[in-house]
Amino acid sequence: MAVVLVANAAVSGAVVTRAVTAAVDPGFVPAGAPLGQIGTDPGDPDDPWSAAAPPGGVILQTPGPSASPGAIGTLRVPLPKNIPIGPRRVGIQVGHWKTDEAPPELTKLVVQTGASWEGVNEVDLNLDIAQRVAVLLNSSGIAVDILPTTIPPGYLADAVVALHADSDGVGELSGFKMAHSARRGPYEDALLNDVKTAYAKATGLDYDGTHISNAMRGYYVFSWTRFQHAVSPFTPGVILEMGYLSNDDDRALMIDKADVVAAAISAGIMRFLSDTPRAKIFEKELVVPAFPSRGPLPTSTP
Ligand SMILES: [Zn+2]
Repeated sequence: MAVVLVANAAVSGAVVTRAVTAAVDPGFVPAGAPLGQIGTDPGDPDDPWSAAAPPGGVILQTPGPSASPGAIGTLRVPLPKNIPIGPRRVGIQVGHWKTDEAPPELTKLVVQTGASWEGVNEVDLNLDIAQRVAVLLNSSGIAVDILPTTIPPGYLADAVVALHADSDGVGELSGFKMAHSARRGPYEDALLNDVKTAYAKATGLDYDGTHISNAMRGYYVFSWTRFQHAVSPFTPGVILEMGYLSNDDDRALMIDKADVVAAAISAGIMRFLSDTPRAKIFEKELVVPAFPSRGPLPTSTP
């Protein structure tokens, strides 16, 4: 079960705005400073979603006077100053792990404990798989961070995969799901497809493309426009709902064949790393549309 947060992107007191050379640009917006409103919580119109600059800041370029009506500007995200060095680095986030330690900007997460079915708690499953994935990646020379709910602000790595397991509440649905956020770098599609292909092949699970939710697409871990405790805009990130905890077959797979599940995830990540050199991931600044860049949320889940 993924969680979309509705809190404002309040600035964490722990985040220190760094002085960067880009600060001389008149459009420079420092970390945590507002970038504008990007929508409201569909279930609570009084709760605006505000965007804020991620750690390191961004350069906001507004449309010039000759721009067409409705034109939006761009956000230029400078390259991070602390690009990873040494072995390739991967973050595996354990959904719902240590959620009680979440910072104030993620406060609404505290009530989210994850799915539970037949005495199996999702967080325990997520942690078990994450640890197995870490062992496999380590054995291939990859450095791994097993990440709890609280992501280090602007977390930098060659890839991040967030692990969850879902419940439909009745035990009917089966399959796995993946998503990444829209406002990301150029490598999310490749990461998603590499993990998806390896996962489907090794587990035999169907891909449940019809139940990918806005909560998955809006997952806070890669919502760097709203939260400081999110991965860097440069860190390719995806969420994987590994299967339905509420489905007997899916649950048996994830528990009894946890090594198969972990090997599939590891293989997908390795494929991505092999195809995507670090030098490409951190090659140049990112340029994405400024706000707002999308219309109203769809009225029904696609
Ligand atoms: Zn979950």
